[in-house]
Amino acid sequence: MTTLRIAEIFGPTIQGEGALIGEPTLFVRAGGCDYRCTWCDSMHAVDSAFRHDWAPMSPQAVWEELHRLSEGQPVTVSLSGGNPAIQDFGPLIALGRAQGYRFACETQGSVARPWFSDLDTLVLSPKPPSSGERVDWDIFADCVEAGRGARSTVMKIVIFDQTDYDWAKDAHGRHPDLPLYLQPGNPEVDPETPVDPQALADRLGWLTETAMADRWFAPRILPQLHVLIWGNKRGV
Ligand code: SF4
Repeated sequence: MTTLRIAEIFGPTIQGEGALIGEPTLFVRAGGCDYRCTWCDSMHAVDSAFRHDWAPMSPQAVWEELHRLSEGQPVTVSLSGGNPAIQDFGPLIALGRAQGYRFACETQGSVARPWFSDLDTLVLSPKPPSSGERVDWDIFADCVEAGRGARSTVMKIVIFDQTDYDWAKDAHGRHPDLPLYLQPGNPEVDPETPVDPQALADRLGWLTETAMADRWFAPRILPQLHVLIWGNKRGV
């Protein structure tokens, strides 16, 4: 029987970024990741030092918690992490969809899963050079293929600097059919450190002006709404 490692389940709140920005959402944060991005804002769901805090849960137990939090009203469920693709979320998706819930999943595209095709929204978020990770584009293409049955598959890229920006253009050139979302990176990831709203606005302004000056009109450029509202606080 499937046992999931779950770092946290929370919501309803709004989705703070990407294609579903603003949408009321429940979050299931999976524990464990095959990457170690330098600017990861979810190390409590990545670093094995936190593994004792990850709850082993059956898909049924996760589903019951989602049902409780939403008081039985169907809503979008976002599978995030960590990397949810290293676990088997197929049974949970089947349980929720049978009751009218919608499922999105955000993953870097390093592991392809058959259950991607059962999603409403697959968000593939390849990590740019500033992350310190390297994308395997063959596996990424497998992920795109695995998600062909999903209602939509999109690409989201976090941009910290000009190198990331140039890389994002190349990344999108490999999969020009995927709608593209860019967001400026947030170097402040400590939940105890207040964010600087002007610094957030400056980074968003730089990214917007860079793309417009470049006449690159493919991406939608968005802030992280939850950071604007709650800073780096967790569980919101
Ligand atoms: S892929 Fe995502 S969760 Fe994993 S280390 Fe990178 S930013 Fe963190």
